[in-house]
Amino acid sequence: MGRKNRDLSYLKPFCFYCDKTFKNEVYLHQHQKAKHFTCQRCFKKFSSCDSLKNHVESAHHEVLTKIPNATGDRSDIKNKIFGMQGVPRVEIEKRIRKGAEEYWTKILSAQYQQRRKENKQRMKQNREISKKENQQDVKIDNEKEEIEQHEYNPEAKPISFDLDYEQLQKQ
Ligand SMILES: [Zn+2]
Ligand SMILES: [Zn+2]
Repeated sequence: MGRKNRDLSYLKPFCFYCDKTFKNEVYLHQHQKAKHFTCQRCFKKFSSCDSLKNHVESAHHEVLTKIPNATGDRSDIKNKIFGMQGVPRVEIEKRIRKGAEEYWTKILSAQYQQRRKENKQRMKQNREISKKENQQDVKIDNEKEEIEQHEYNPEAKPISFDLDYEQLQKQ
C-alpha cells in the first residue's frame, strides 16, 4: 500500500524499566546507563544494576532498593535487565500483541473509512442515475401523450363521411 508512516515501534528494542523505544540496542544500552544505572549520589554511570548496587553499598554505605527512574513495579531491584537481555518473554509478547493490535486497528479503520466513502459516492451516483432515468421516463410519457392526442380526437369526424352524407342528401 506504500504507507510510509507505519508504526512498527513495538518491534523495536525497548527499555524494560521505562517502556521507551529505541532505534537499536546500542541506544538502548546508552539510555539505561544514563537513566537507570547512574548513581543518584555521585552520578557515576554503570553498565548494570548489579554494579550500581555494589557501588552504592561500598561508596555510599547505602542499600539500593529501587532502580532509578523506573516506572512502577519495574523499579524492583530484582529486575536484572541489560538492553533486551533479561526482559521477560511475556512482556515482549504483550508488547508485540498490543502494538500489532493498534497497528491493525489503524489499518482496518482506515480501510473501513475508505469503504464508507466509496459506498457513499456509489449511492450518490445511483441516486443521480435514477433521477436522470425518471426525467427520461417523464419525457417519454409526454411524447406518448402527444402522439395519442394527435391520433385520437373525439371531436373529429371523418371528412369523407361528411362529403358522402351531403352528396347523398342532394341526390
Ligand atoms: Zn528506560
Ligand atoms: Zn555514587
